[in-house]
Amino acid sequence: MVKKIFITALSFCLACGCAKNSQSEFYNVERFADLQILRYKVPGFEELSLQQKMLVYYLAEAALEGRDILFDQNGKHNLTIRKTLEAIYTEYKGDRSSKDFKALETYLKRVWFSSGIHHHYAEDKFLPEFSEKFFREAANAVPAEKLPLRKGQTTEQLTDEIIPVMFDPAIMPKKVNKKDGDDLVLTSAGNYYDGVTQKEAETFYNRMHKAGDTRPLSYGLNSRLVKKDGKIIEEVYREGGKYSAAIEKINSWLEKALEVAENDAQKAVIKKLIEYYKTGDLKAFDEYAILWVKDLDSRVDFVNGFTETYGDPLGIKASWESLVNFKDLEATRRTQLISENAQWFEENSPTDKIFKKEKVQGVSAKVITAAILAGDLYPSTAIGINLPNANWIRKEYGSKSVTLGNITDAYNKAARGNGFNEEFVIGSTELKLINKYGDLTGDIHTDLHECLGHGSGKLMPGVHEKALKAYSSSIEEARADLFGLYFIADPKMTEIGLLPSPEAYKAEYYSYMMNGLLTQLVRIEPGNNIEEAHMLNRQLIARWVLEKAKDTKAVELVKKSGKTFVKINDYVELRRLFGELLREIQRIKSTGDFETARNLIEKYAVKVDPEIHKEILARNAKLNIAPYKGFVNPVYRLVKDENGKITDVTVNYTEGYAEQMLRYSREYGNL
Ligand code: ZN
Repeated sequence: MVKKIFITALSFCLACGCAKNSQSEFYNVERFADLQILRYKVPGFEELSLQQKMLVYYLAEAALEGRDILFDQNGKHNLTIRKTLEAIYTEYKGDRSSKDFKALETYLKRVWFSSGIHHHYAEDKFLPEFSEKFFREAANAVPAEKLPLRKGQTTEQLTDEIIPVMFDPAIMPKKVNKKDGDDLVLTSAGNYYDGVTQKEAETFYNRMHKAGDTRPLSYGLNSRLVKKDGKIIEEVYREGGKYSAAIEKINSWLEKALEVAENDAQKAVIKKLIEYYKTGDLKAFDEYAILWVKDLDSRVDFVNGFTETYGDPLGIKASWESLVNFKDLEATRRTQLISENAQWFEENSPTDKIFKKEKVQGVSAKVITAAILAGDLYPSTAIGINLPNANWIRKEYGSKSVTLGNITDAYNKAARGNGFNEEFVIGSTELKLINKYGDLTGDIHTDLHECLGHGSGKLMPGVHEKALKAYSSSIEEARADLFGLYFIADPKMTEIGLLPSPEAYKAEYYSYMMNGLLTQLVRIEPGNNIEEAHMLNRQLIARWVLEKAKDTKAVELVKKSGKTFVKINDYVELRRLFGELLREIQRIKSTGDFETARNLIEKYAVKVDPEIHKEILARNAKLNIAPYKGFVNPVYRLVKDENGKITDVTVNYTEGYAEQMLRYSREYGNL
């Protein structure tokens, strides 16, 4: 039973431990601009029951039907631009290897990726690298019926309309503008408001909030605010309202999902969502969120709706997104195993007895397998999700917090081929260890950190949780990380079957030290200090240990042909040092020793060695690794017998990026 846990580690080339194994080809689909397109697997799908597979299928269809909504929310010209580009891309009979055509292809791929003409992360408008003249000629050569022409509109009128939006850097320069002093609504390109000022929008919604209301609705969440004939009104996203064509389709699949739901609790969730989509009633939305957060037993789960508000500069209106997933039983079993042994870990940690908890309870983290990503979670996705967003519901009913295991795994596997570890790991012994055990030990370190580390130890009477003030979070992260580092090397790991070999932990030790001392610096701009809590804690641990190992040389930085590497000479001594620091960090936390916390962080964590930083940035730049990544989805198909009865659902991983985007536009082009 436990053996299955090792599957992730064993899926690598064991014969040679080589880094560029055939796996990375599966995961890396293509590269353009600053983007890398990846593919993810859906392990465990085949083992679902037919009913569960059908549920995933119907929910996946419901997810894909909403695609056009997000394009329109991100900017009112986005759909017209996308459709025009797609028509040229598929119909163009001229030289498809010309510089202009290639540039148009890249631009279209970027529009697909961002669901619009603004960078998905930086939010600035990206500009075409083909000429306006080429675009005009190419559009004119496309048969008119293939273009998104409005009634009576000519091709010339269409191109006149969208060319300034695409090419003029001054028009709609930013998707979400948050610059203090600007009218954030008027200067943001998003399509959540039309013809209203920031002040008008704020007044409109402020009026809705009643003083003393402890269960406020998410006013404005699911609508576009527009001024019509001098009057400000909401166009609500619902059947019969804004985006009706897409929402009707979503609901039709939800109706089918209802028929194969796993249990009554899940049925109630789906039913309520359908009602909400029909009415646009925010009260129904809250009721849906409560039912959803209470449904913990279903294997299959999903998000489908207007969810996150990052796209609105006022943080009121939500973009549409969907995710279909099912519980990863193996990974959940792993975190359960850790939790069950929580008391043993606490008693055997190197911390002072007076700072230990008498009775600890491990937390079992929920790991899920993503089956489809859509809307604002596609192609670029989060790796963890915590919903619902309404604070009062979180307070009264809690929230669901999950990590997307197969997505993290795909990131790891895809990175195998990019040359990063080959550049920064000192030798083949370490590289082999990392290739063989790195993913698994990385996961287990995270599990120990989350399930036990944060929950271990106790504060002395009278010591406040935030006694360490600005240093609270980095010290807390260091404590959790050290807990994981100390125990991942413990014989207990192989004893309870979490790790396959007493050597495996070395992969995590090497990666951790390399990251903390060197490679995490690739995320810091030249001249800047480290600020983010997790990065601070990693450098604190790595630098502190490096300094304490000065005499024993358990770990050191060495130069090889002008390049700096981490060299670990004594893993056992390294573990002892992690334990020593854990003991000290726990004391600092338990007693609220602000002075020592400050000294440690300021001395080891904040400052960046400028020489090493420069070297790391230069070495990384040579690897030409795309800074942003996104995914293509798998394709699900129904298998039917001669009577039309569904007998199976298959999953297929062969669809390419452009192929998938064009198919989605054809099959789910609802708006
Ligand atoms: Zn943490």
